[in-house]
Amino acid sequence: MTQIYNRVALIGLGLIASSMAWGIKRGGLAVEVTGYARSAETRETSRKIGLCDQVFDSAAEAVKDADLVVLCVPVGVMGQVAAEIAPHLKAGATVSDVGSVKRQVIADVAPHLPDSVHFVPAHPLAGTEHSGPTSGFAELFDNRWSLVVPPADADRAAVDRVIAFWKGLGSNVEEMEPDHHDLVLAVTSHTPHLIAYTMVGVADDLRRVSESEVIKYSASGFRDFTRIAASDPTMWRDVFLNNKDATLEILGRFTEELFALQRAIRRGDGDHLHDYFTRTRSIRRGIIEAGQDTDAPDFGRGKAT
Ligand code: NAP
Repeated sequence: MTQIYNRVALIGLGLIASSMAWGIKRGGLAVEVTGYARSAETRETSRKIGLCDQVFDSAAEAVKDADLVVLCVPVGVMGQVAAEIAPHLKAGATVSDVGSVKRQVIADVAPHLPDSVHFVPAHPLAGTEHSGPTSGFAELFDNRWSLVVPPADADRAAVDRVIAFWKGLGSNVEEMEPDHHDLVLAVTSHTPHLIAYTMVGVADDLRRVSESEVIKYSASGFRDFTRIAASDPTMWRDVFLNNKDATLEILGRFTEELFALQRAIRRGDGDHLHDYFTRTRSIRRGIIEAGQDTDAPDFGRGKAT
C-alpha cells in the first residue's frame, strides 16, 4: 500500500474511471476518491456500488481540494469539462486524463487550465468493450502499458507522481510524445477497431446471412470482430474525429496492403500469401514473448482487450 495522493477526483465514471477507483482502493493510492458523472443515473449507480468515497452532483464540487484530477470522459468533451473545472482547481493540483488520443486532447484542455496547476496527460492501454460505472475492475491495468504524455515544460515531480500512480494501478509506464502516441495508437488500436466495425457492418449488409449462418457459425475471427465492434459508439466516434491524421495515414497503408493481397488471391499467387502470413505470424509470437498476451486458445475472449 503506497499512498501517492491525498484526494483524487475522477470526472466521468465509466469503465476506465471505475477500474481506477477500484484500483486506487486496492493499492491504497489515495486517502479519498471523489467522482462526478454527467447523468444522475450514473451518479446514483456509482453511489449504490460504493465506487467513490463521495460522488458529487457537479464537477466543481468533485475537484475541490483534489491533488489529482483525472478526466475520464470521451475525448470530444475533454475541453468542455476542463473549462468547467478550471476555476475550482486547487493551486498545485495535477490534472490528467485517460483519453485515447493525445495531441487534440492536449490542445483542447491546456488552454483552460490555470498556471497554478500541472497538466500531465496519460493513456492506459487497457479496456474492454463494456462501458459504464459497473463495468470496471481493479485488475484492468495490471501488467498493461500506460503511456504518460507530458508537455516539454512539465514539472518533473508532478510527472513522476503520475507515473508512480499508474504503476500503483498495476501498469507498466512509458513516456511518449503526443504525435508519436497518436500514430502508434492508430496502428495498434484505432485502425483495427475501424476494420472490425467495417467487417461487422459488411456481414450485417448481407442481412439474410447475418440472421442465420453468420451468427450460428461465427468462428473466432468474426466473433472477435463483433466483440471489438461492440465498443462504445461515442468513445470511438470521438477517437476517429480527434485522431484524424494518423488514422487516415494508417488506413491508406492498410488499403494498399489489402489491394496487394487481393491481387495475390486473384492471380493465385500462393507464395505471396504464404510469405505474408508467415511474417504476420512472427509478429504474433513477438507479442506473446513480450508478455502482452498469452498463447491461450481463447485469445480475445477474456476480460481485458
Ligand atoms: P464510458 O464507460 O463510456 O464512460 C464515460 C463517462 O464519461 C460516463 O460516466 C459519462 O457519463 C461521462 N461523460 C460523458 N460526457 C460527459 C460530460 N460532458 N461531462 C461529464 N461526464 C461525461 O467510457 P470509458 O471507456 O471509461 O472511456 C473514458 C475515456 O477513456 C475516453 O476518453 C476513452 O477514449 C478513454 N479510454 C477508453 C478505453 C476503453 O477501452 N474503453 C481505454 C483507454 C482509454 P454518463 O454515464 O452520465 O453519460
